[in-house]
Amino acid sequence: MAQSVVSEPIDMGTEVRPSVPGQAPKKPTKAFNSFQIAQTQFDKVAEYLGLDPATRDLLRYPLREFHFAIPVRMDDGSVKVFRGFRVQHNDARGPGKGGIRFHPQETIDTVRALSMWMTWKCAVVDIPLGGAKGGVICDPHNLSLREQEQICRGWVRQVARNVGPLTDVPAPDVMTNSQHMLWILDEFEQIHGGRYPGFITGKPVGMGGSLGRTEATGYGVVFTLREALKELGIRPEDTTASVQGFGNVAQYAIELYQRLGGRVIAVSCWDQADQCSYTYRKLAGIDLNQILSITDHFGGINKQKAKDLGYELLPGEAWLEQDVEILIPAAMENQITGDNVDKISPRVRIIAEGANGPTTPEADTQIKERGILLIPDFLANAGGVTCSYFEQVQSNMNYFWEKDEVLGKLDLKMTSAYFAVSELSRREKLSMRDAAYAIAIGRVAKACHDRGWV
Ligand code: GLU
Repeated sequence: MAQSVVSEPIDMGTEVRPSVPGQAPKKPTKAFNSFQIAQTQFDKVAEYLGLDPATRDLLRYPLREFHFAIPVRMDDGSVKVFRGFRVQHNDARGPGKGGIRFHPQETIDTVRALSMWMTWKCAVVDIPLGGAKGGVICDPHNLSLREQEQICRGWVRQVARNVGPLTDVPAPDVMTNSQHMLWILDEFEQIHGGRYPGFITGKPVGMGGSLGRTEATGYGVVFTLREALKELGIRPEDTTASVQGFGNVAQYAIELYQRLGGRVIAVSCWDQADQCSYTYRKLAGIDLNQILSITDHFGGINKQKAKDLGYELLPGEAWLEQDVEILIPAAMENQITGDNVDKISPRVRIIAEGANGPTTPEADTQIKERGILLIPDFLANAGGVTCSYFEQVQSNMNYFWEKDEVLGKLDLKMTSAYFAVSELSRREKLSMRDAAYAIAIGRVAKACHDRGWV
């Protein structure tokens, strides 16, 4: 193994991503290409591992991609055509696995990046699944439930022969939930004639879903955070945190972190009416149930009601500047950048990435130089897919575990993955991100070699 990880200046490309949930609209938004970022992260560690050129060539691109149109008859009688994607990055270790996002700024390159990160995510927690991701360019805020159902059914009609329990297994992600999964499953089963509960995860409990799946991603973030705090010799009750995002991941991460004794002083979320994000702050600590009672199902907090309850309303990026020990970005990709990384308070000790790809490489380098312990996305947020794997196992047995059993198994998986990454990071003097990559890429490369692909 080479001794050090090469770090080079990178051109992040020109893909234009206008403001997204969790990010306030800025002057000229610096454009980031998530796929180029994912490839750059891969290249750096492939070099460190001394991977042969063919394996690099195989792993730095997806194996397969599907791009398609989804025509939907809207409630007003008109027909609107939505664009959909499914990208299968790698299935050497098992069927492709990964969510489907509904987002107005979805791009094929973002889906490519996310599919690649799913491959590493499944590998780092050592579950027998590969990486895939799907998306539809749409904004569910502006769609009725019937229209969303038609998008779900249309999406799976386009890929029904290229996905399945043994090939590629979808799940919920940004702005999709268990109801969307059930519509997709139902359409798949209509097409194939039979019951295939192992085809999709994140199903409703009672319809093949697993207890604990809703909580799993957020709880998983906090399982790794808890271990990081132990390593640093910090008691959770002596810490405060600021969270970006208030969707499924953020909500359950806050719940468990508060149960450990931590205090969340700020959360940010997207405001659909103003098309920008705001940070809601209460220095005494936010009351989760109170905020949940004024939050819509997209994780949007009602501004006026929050003010009435005594929350300070700050600009969207203020979550990053808070004087806390812990930052949890749990919204979208490319949120901590070279432009705002220096706003992170000197008090911050840990960044736990609940979102996929929230930190750009430029910011990553500075975070490492400042000695902040960063728990990388595909380790920190692997709880969701790990529980998806448990859901598949339970679906296949047609026997469902108690919630405690699911969460206990999840804790074990997350904690042992954290230890393995942390141990390698210390031993080889790698950042936690590079150590997680080294373990994951090593496992996937071995699977490709053992199968005789490269
Ligand atoms: N969408 C989640 C993720 O990014 C879960 C994926 C899954 O369960 O397959 O990890």
